[in-house]
Amino acid sequence: MSDNALTLAQLEQKNAFVRRHIGPGEDEIAQMLQTIGAESLEDLTSQTVPAGIQLDEPVNAGEGATEVEALSALKAVAAKNKINRSFIGMGYYDTHVPNVILRNVLENPGWYTAYTPYQPEIAQGRLEAILNFQQVTIDLTGLELASASLLDEGTAAAEAMALAKRVSKNKKANLFFIADDVHPQTKDVVETRAEMFGFGIVSGPAEEAAEHDVFGALLQYPSTTGEVKDISDIITAVQAKKGIVAVAADLMSLVMLKSPGELGADVALGSAQRFGVPMGYGGPHAAFFATRDKFKRSLPGRIIGVSKDTRGRPALRMALQTREQHIRREKANSNICTAQVLLANMASFYAVYHGPEGLKTIARRIHRLTDILASGLTGKGLALMHNTWFDTITVKVDDKAAVLRRAYEKGLNLRSDIEGAVGISLDETTTRDDISALFEVLIGHEHGLDVEKLDADVTTQGSRSIPADLTRTSDILTNEVFNQYHSETEMLRYIKSLENKDLALNHSMISLGSCTMKLNATAEMIPVTWPEFGQLHPFAPLDQATGYHEMIDELAEWLISITGYDAMSMQPNSGAQGEYAGLLAIQRYHESRGEGHRNVCLIPSSAHGTNPASAQMVSLKVVVVDCDKNGNVDLDDLRSKAKEVGDNLSCAMITYPSTHGVYEETIREICDIVHDHGGQVYMDGANMNAQVGITAPGFIGSDVSHLNLHKTFCIPHGGGGPGMGPIGVKSHLAPFLPNHRVVDIENAEEDCGAVSAAPWGSASILPISYMYVKMMGAAGLRKASQVAILNANYVAKSLEGHFNVLYKGQNGRVAHECIIDLRPLKDGSGVSEMDIAKRLNDYGFHAPTMSFPVAGTLMIEPTESEAKFELDRFIEAMISIRQEIAKVESGEWDATDNPLHNAPHTLADICDSDWNRSYDRHLAAYPVPIVARNKFWPSVNRIDDVYGDRNLQCSCAPIEAYRDE
Ligand SMILES: *Cc1c(COP(=O)(O)O)cnc(C)c1O
Repeated sequence: MSDNALTLAQLEQKNAFVRRHIGPGEDEIAQMLQTIGAESLEDLTSQTVPAGIQLDEPVNAGEGATEVEALSALKAVAAKNKINRSFIGMGYYDTHVPNVILRNVLENPGWYTAYTPYQPEIAQGRLEAILNFQQVTIDLTGLELASASLLDEGTAAAEAMALAKRVSKNKKANLFFIADDVHPQTKDVVETRAEMFGFGIVSGPAEEAAEHDVFGALLQYPSTTGEVKDISDIITAVQAKKGIVAVAADLMSLVMLKSPGELGADVALGSAQRFGVPMGYGGPHAAFFATRDKFKRSLPGRIIGVSKDTRGRPALRMALQTREQHIRREKANSNICTAQVLLANMASFYAVYHGPEGLKTIARRIHRLTDILASGLTGKGLALMHNTWFDTITVKVDDKAAVLRRAYEKGLNLRSDIEGAVGISLDETTTRDDISALFEVLIGHEHGLDVEKLDADVTTQGSRSIPADLTRTSDILTNEVFNQYHSETEMLRYIKSLENKDLALNHSMISLGSCTMKLNATAEMIPVTWPEFGQLHPFAPLDQATGYHEMIDELAEWLISITGYDAMSMQPNSGAQGEYAGLLAIQRYHESRGEGHRNVCLIPSSAHGTNPASAQMVSLKVVVVDCDKNGNVDLDDLRSKAKEVGDNLSCAMITYPSTHGVYEETIREICDIVHDHGGQVYMDGANMNAQVGITAPGFIGSDVSHLNLHKTFCIPHGGGGPGMGPIGVKSHLAPFLPNHRVVDIENAEEDCGAVSAAPWGSASILPISYMYVKMMGAAGLRKASQVAILNANYVAKSLEGHFNVLYKGQNGRVAHECIIDLRPLKDGSGVSEMDIAKRLNDYGFHAPTMSFPVAGTLMIEPTESEAKFELDRFIEAMISIRQEIAKVESGEWDATDNPLHNAPHTLADICDSDWNRSYDRHLAAYPVPIVARNKFWPSVNRIDDVYGDRNLQCSCAPIEAYRDE
């Protein structure tokens, strides 16, 4: 049909977003279908997905929209949020995101589309940024060792409790102490975790911590109501009884205060949000976590460490626990997989940009404004709850309701949950006018106070609000990196220099199986940095967040329809946290029916490591179910294990399509077997990209799933987070979804505790998934799944004859990913999956998922977003590598003097005047001609893992180490 004959509607259709999201155009789809021998996408779907589980009806996800339409619709929704000046505090503070960081990191796909740095040779930039984050944490907390970020302050505190239990010498104790003046949401998250671990919680004034027989204690410094007090005696007393003390601290206050480490703490943790990351109605933000060196093997999450490459140069990598859950499974320290790397990077850049002097100036100014506010109020006869503070005061008021009303009328939010008082926290954005406005609210129109005059008074009298012995005397941020990039030009270049070392989706496809590295469209990302979404405090009154809730509710409706469930909780902020929340719901459900004894979780051997790690967090015993030679769950084994476990069966955790990349025909039977024994089915939703619009977990027969919105629903991976892991449940589990102690969640039961610090998790990245569904619509989503399947089958088919595709379904089809088996090649040539992964870097690609779920394999997931051109480039690279391996097999190339063994090749190799290899430089760097079009240079050579773990160094190397380069 010529374009002239198209109707207006058809013309508009041609311009739909679907065409941008899905890589291949119609012609390419037709060619690929031909290659794999399918007639149409529908034909391929029916060959691939078992007939019994295909949806009859389209999902409810709208008609689709153009980028312009969707953005303007969401803008109208966002406008319904009311942005007040926030003085609520409680761990969330307004901040100025330095514009150079906003534009060049948060809004830059070079940073936000990268993956977790499992391939460190092509990730040195973000590894350096995270190492800087660890250094900031180490300096400000005064402890020896820091991690590369956790999900939020609440879960970091829960991890601290788990660490305390692991390392405390008070082995018989089963109690954990939480001081009364810890943030309420932190308490909530820790108590939920304790309940499921079977720990008892005692609370009371911090001073009473050592009166109990505890394995650990959690204190807050400064306290939730702002008090700055010396907790060193309390710490010593708890430690004298072999308890471990964790201190939740505020990063900005630590610039001025004596560090938790200096006070004797074993663990320090908290949120790095106010280091230049918007509040975003709760997240995402990076939590920091630091502890003693001797506890390094008990640390939750990841650590970046310094090692060296084959040229002897310093090189960064993930140390120790790199693939912790995958190796240690239910014995892992924690289930944390996706963390908050992008936000940790932002916070570290904030520290780099401001430097120690800049941070001190910011902290002192905040403190000065607080002194001024306190002095004005007390001068007028108001009473404060404490005599000490950094940035937070709690003001006693007679008529709290009237004060709050006056505040709201003036557009100010105060903390409202303290009896007979209001809390006021100041931050970097507070102005003189804000102070005057606060005087008006608390004293009245005729307060007669002058900020300048009060400032002069405080300056001459000197401030006593921080006790002298709690004033920091130790240096912070002395490393060169924090003292070098303080002009915007220098900062811009530093950020860019790191970005250049990293391979992200803006360079080439990242075909990581199970991780679904699809397009993160710009239109989806734009709303994230709208102030209407960014500047809301998570505990702002609900009537100020109408826009947020309209967006969240609509997204939840879509996701409910897409998953076939009845209810959705947005609280978990990673897939693994979703698993935890889902298992929690299952256990609460069993308890409600008097079957709390059910304590066994069946998990197939092919499961992702977070599954057993999460099961352990709700005290479930893991029983492993075998897989058969086709990669399917062995039904006989499942039957016999379920029978054996009998009445004690709590649930089974199943991934669908399986991690082996096939749609098991028997999935309904699997669900039935579990249900027949009174168990619940947890379907891991990481592979939803093969289900959306085609089938659905709830429709298949599962009871609960998490969705990785950062996989299937387009939230970028951020170099290792953020993520969102909402869970969908059937109606019988709905009463057991997480609630929140500070903000009551509609329809959630009173006694269900929180799993995250914020009621709706990392709410500010939900617009990404909202935009995706809104623009794609039901038909677009289904087509995306179909093309994801097509692309995987096209890759599988094209690699056949060169590599062995390990698992296939009934008609010889794979699902949305395929596994190629490298073990036979290794046996014949000595070339390992690692060599192949690193050699792919020379071709400009990130390696597919290595050795999961089967050791010695690569799992390739191209996603629907990759066009045929890019798939062909990848296929060409893989085939060329296969031919290289053949040369090693035949003996034409030496076993070690070959480009596979020496990969990746760096510019330093190629420019080395002493190039003494048996192959030439051109072959090393430009193995196929197309590489020259867009050559990516790994910035370091292969990194020595063993050296890095033996000589663990997790702080910034002195600059001398880099001098010889
Ligand atoms: C990614 C993944 C998870 C964990 O999700 P996170 O968001 O990283 O915590 C769980 N299961 C499977 C199969 C996955 O691929």
